[in-house]
Amino acid sequence: PVLVIGSYNTDLVIRCPRLPAPGETILGGTFAQHHGGKGANQAVAAARLAAAGQVHFVAKVGDDEFGRQALTQLRAEGVDTTGVRVAPGQPSGVALINVATATGENSISVAAGANEHLRPADADTALADAAPGTVVVLQLEIPLPTVLHVARQAAARGLRVVLNPAPAQPLPAGLGADLYALTPNETEAETLTGVRVTDAATATLAAERLHAAGISRVVITLGAQGAFWSDGTGAALVAAPAVQAVDTTAAGDCFTGALAVALAEGHVLPDAVAFACRAAALAVTRPGAQASLPTRAELTG
Ligand code: ADP
Repeated sequence: PVLVIGSYNTDLVIRCPRLPAPGETILGGTFAQHHGGKGANQAVAAARLAAAGQVHFVAKVGDDEFGRQALTQLRAEGVDTTGVRVAPGQPSGVALINVATATGENSISVAAGANEHLRPADADTALADAAPGTVVVLQLEIPLPTVLHVARQAAARGLRVVLNPAPAQPLPAGLGADLYALTPNETEAETLTGVRVTDAATATLAAERLHAAGISRVVITLGAQGAFWSDGTGAALVAAPAVQAVDTTAAGDCFTGALAVALAEGHVLPDAVAFACRAAALAVTRPGAQASLPTRAELTG
């Protein structure tokens, strides 16, 4: 099983002729609403790849229509939402996204809302109920004390914790001991190590620094180059399948969700990384965030 603990956001997207300047109103946009948030994206990515009933999600949504829509959609995706709570009086997390149709440039503002109210104790029941072998997946769009508490509790129960350190922020020294694996992208790896990561050689250097900081397994995603893994005894670059990328939104979320599924199914790290690369390569060939996430049948069929 996979237990994802993280954020849910509703993405409100306007595609407009150009981005509005301060004080300016731009007419002529088209609107779309999408389910997002790194936690929810990773939970849906995992649910589409895992056997039925294997993916659980712990999150806080608002006492509003967005929150109700989130629960309905997560259940429709086969995510177990027993651990998704409503934060009384709080709005759901929202991202307001303007995309300029001509250039593809965007401007985004996020109100974390209910996500900020995901407390350490909110995950305790899900952790207590987690079956042996569960892979616990965390990101950094919820309060850091919650991330640290969950990682500690999960590790104490012998569960494997995968942390996708996004959005990037410095991490406390003791966290490494509670992690099974850390999955930064290039910019997150640079924030954490100071090494400008662009290829396998620089990823090796960054991984060595992370190992020195107590993190035993590191998987650095390298966009179209694939992903680099290092477990302190071995390391390798897994090349990305060559594809025509049309939209890399949620590629990293797809990768982390897929990695967790493969680890939970008992695959060793290099094989799980290869599986995650195949899943993410398919995701980037299609537009959208959750809309682009592949099913198991699409990967194996
Ligand atoms: P993020 O989305 O967090 O910025 P990356 O850009 O590193 O993360 O992408 C995550 C993973 O998605 C990569 O490790 C790779 O497996 C896959 N991926 C991203 N871009 C491409 C691409 N152009 N072709 C094939 N795979 C890709």
